[in-house]
Amino acid sequence: METTNCYKCSFCGTNLSYENLGIEGSNAWICYDCIELFYGILGLEVENEPVPIELVTNKSPKQIFQELSEYVIGQDNAKKILSVALYQHYLKINHSDLCNIDKSNILMIGPTGVGKTLLAKTMAKILDIPIAICDATVYTQAGYVGEDVENILLKLLQNAEFNLEKAQKGIVFLDEFDKIARKSSNPSITRDVSGEGVQNSLLKIIEGSVINIPPMGGRKHPRDEFIKFDTSNVLFICAGAFSGLNKTSKKYVGFNNLTSYVESTDVSKLEKFGIIPEILGRLPVIVELEELSKEELKSILTKPKGAIINQYQSLFKIDGVDLNFTEDALEEIASEAYKKKLGARSLRKIMEDLMTDVIFNLERDGQKKELLIELTHVRNKELILKHLYSA
Ligand code: ADP
Repeated sequence: METTNCYKCSFCGTNLSYENLGIEGSNAWICYDCIELFYGILGLEVENEPVPIELVTNKSPKQIFQELSEYVIGQDNAKKILSVALYQHYLKINHSDLCNIDKSNILMIGPTGVGKTLLAKTMAKILDIPIAICDATVYTQAGYVGEDVENILLKLLQNAEFNLEKAQKGIVFLDEFDKIARKSSNPSITRDVSGEGVQNSLLKIIEGSVINIPPMGGRKHPRDEFIKFDTSNVLFICAGAFSGLNKTSKKYVGFNNLTSYVESTDVSKLEKFGIIPEILGRLPVIVELEELSKEELKSILTKPKGAIINQYQSLFKIDGVDLNFTEDALEEIASEAYKKKLGARSLRKIMEDLMTDVIFNLERDGQKKELLIELTHVRNKELILKHLYSA
């Protein structure tokens, strides 16, 4: 048990440890046991530990795949690997007797805007577990100026509404992971605080250990001074574009062959890229995402739950306008986005450019109208309003 410089409780004289350090005054301390005693004397109840949550999921990999597909277009191979990894991960949590299943932390490789973050968010949504989405580049090696990696866990805890039990079964998504690659191929010659240094700090939380996380605002309980966060059941997803990574032939052939896929030469390429072997050893599942095709970009406009076009339709409906797009208008939007090489990211921007003037100038006169956006309108947005009011 760690003690705090041999402070003693000013009431009962017990040596204080982090577990029972209750309240610290200017020159006095009260241990947790004494606080509990006072609560008893005052007839108050001490808040109970949160009730452990039940099984995280009982969904099969196929169900997970289907639900992911309601939100994420394309990326079928990635979705399959993720569904199996997710299933195995929660099988391991739910059946702790099956400890021969390795933890399935994930490395996601793919260009910008193709659905890496969306996949992680959707995984959390369909399993109803918390997720912390973090940018790996803001963290620094312990002891240097910058954010401490412990803040990642604090964020997860906040997103779990401070339910530690739930947070410990959540997902951490570390974006821009390729940006913290080791700068020099020769380790430890230069001080690589934001590369190798931060990877070493992250290793501590990724490998699964109990981390003391710092105090936070809004806490109710004196015992919460240091939260002991066990990361062994947290699913870590590290993602990045890894541009310039010389990919090798894929060895993945099916669900039961995940391991042999992972142990293909890709790992040595990643090591050359600058990811330390200790981290790679903790990321047994490697998922590659593909560039989105024009056809997939077109589907993203209308098909997924909460698709952009559906959002605009709901918005226009409030003003009595029935908004629709012709197929070739949708194709034109998709091909403009495709040219920009930012995956689906450009779609929203193109749609905003197209629709902002119309939303601004729309006469909100309660009249029911129809607005069909055609190819010519996408090429010349000035025509949209004329078209709307000429009808
Ligand atoms: P990244 O791969 O850079 O993490 P995101 O997942 O953040 O990309 O995607 C950026 C935007 O594009 C989001 O609004 C997301 O909903 C949309 N998007 C990206 N890929 C897909 C996809 N495959 N299916 C549906 N929407 C997608």
